[in-house]
Amino acid sequence: MSIQTVGVVGAGTMGNGIAQACAVVGIDVVMVDISEQAVAKGLATVAGSLDRLIKKEKMTEAEKAAALSRIRGSTDYGALTGAQLVIEAATENEALKVKILQQLDGLLPAETLVATNTSSISITKLAAATKRADRFIGMHFFNPVPMMALVEIIRGLQTSDATHDAVKAMALRLGKQPITVKNAPGFVVNRILVPMINEAFFVLAEGLATPEEIDAGMKLGCNHPIGPLALADMVGLDVCLAVMNVYFEEFADSKYRPCPLLKEMVAAGWLGRKTGRGVYTY
Ligand code: NAD
Repeated sequence: MSIQTVGVVGAGTMGNGIAQACAVVGIDVVMVDISEQAVAKGLATVAGSLDRLIKKEKMTEAEKAAALSRIRGSTDYGALTGAQLVIEAATENEALKVKILQQLDGLLPAETLVATNTSSISITKLAAATKRADRFIGMHFFNPVPMMALVEIIRGLQTSDATHDAVKAMALRLGKQPITVKNAPGFVVNRILVPMINEAFFVLAEGLATPEEIDAGMKLGCNHPIGPLALADMVGLDVCLAVMNVYFEEFADSKYRPCPLLKEMVAAGWLGRKTGRGVYTY
């Protein structure tokens, strides 16, 4: 099936980034959110992002106008019926996602492919809640979508080869580098990243080095662009803790136990940049 139009559900951080990534390579997009305000904000974010590309001389005014003309915003799910692929990028809430997927099932033609950008919910479980489990897949983009090269393509147990191949081809068309992953908590990148951050808290708690030294060690020794503790402050300590708790429960394996210091800091409300204090003070 050739994909000319992509539907995007959710016009937030990830949804508008996905819409932009599609529009700049010539794909028509319908972006749906629950309020006119959210749709307008998503469209304005894309326009602002394209303006920054113009400033960096990576895009012309004409290319910006062409890309924007390809994105249609709407609050009506009916607008999605012409899409061959719909990517769900709404708020991370399982019940909400199931509701949206069932709504899509009732509207979209049987052959339409549906992908979810979820970071943490089981693709196999979401697929089972739809009437198109074989045509359902995870398409996990990274933030900010227009800048980040990776897309994790997550196969649920039920995902067909044809669905996988079509969605992988779409990621390549967007100029991304896809990796194919089997469904499991955290997929691949967050499965490795978040336990590494958690281990950095153990190292800190054991007093092996200062936060600055731990971060410098990982930057200079592993060529990471940012140290694990500074990254935890960016992601949010509460988010890191929630992810570790999911792994600990899902795998029932003590190797995923969250570091007590991480728990302490979350209990204190030291969540990172967003609260002005985490490992570092802002
Ligand atoms: P966000 O809060 O910025 O945007 C979510 C949008 O969904 C909002 O505009 C909201 O109004 C909309 N929405 C809520 N209910 C809806 C409905 N019924 N129909 C249509 N739209 C609805 O969130 P985000 O950061 O863009 O995250 C979206 C998804 O992407 C989540 O599943 C998240 O886990 C995943 N994700 C986020 C990141 C990240 O760094 N932010 C990275 C990878 C994946």
